[in-house]
Amino acid sequence: MHVDGECLCGFVAFEAEVNPDMVFACHCTDCQIQSGTSFRTIVPVTPGTFKVEHGELRIFVKTAESGKLRSLAFCPECGTSIYGGPKPGEDGMLNLRVGALRQRDALRPRARLWTRSAQPWLDDFHKLPKVETQGSAPSPKRD
Ligand SMILES: [Zn+2]
Ligand SMILES: [Zn+2]
Repeated sequence: MHVDGECLCGFVAFEAEVNPDMVFACHCTDCQIQSGTSFRTIVPVTPGTFKVEHGELRIFVKTAESGKLRSLAFCPECGTSIYGGPKPGEDGMLNLRVGALRQRDALRPRARLWTRSAQPWLDDFHKLPKVETQGSAPSPKRD
């Protein structure tokens, strides 16, 4: 499947091919910290198909729990996460961050990874009141 995306500020645009059956929700703590939320949705790129259309990415190199170095690519202007991949200069799988893809609605997670560190309240997420926009959020109930 062909996908394309843009960071929040529009400085970086990119495209790639992905397999829509390989979408995962990652609950690792690094994804929680870097995304600022409770999990991140990822999809591996078909090797050799990732292209930056304009702009350029900044790379942060982290040490994974395994001890391996991993590159985290993001927009240097607005900080949008674009992919995680092998350390700079090494070949390997890139995992795109689905939230920055225009086709995000079509990319449904097939499994959840790193649930060891998943937020426990996610199990009841579907029970929370739904508010279509931020404007009319219900006031919290007090016990
Ligand atoms: Zn940006
Ligand atoms: Zn993760």
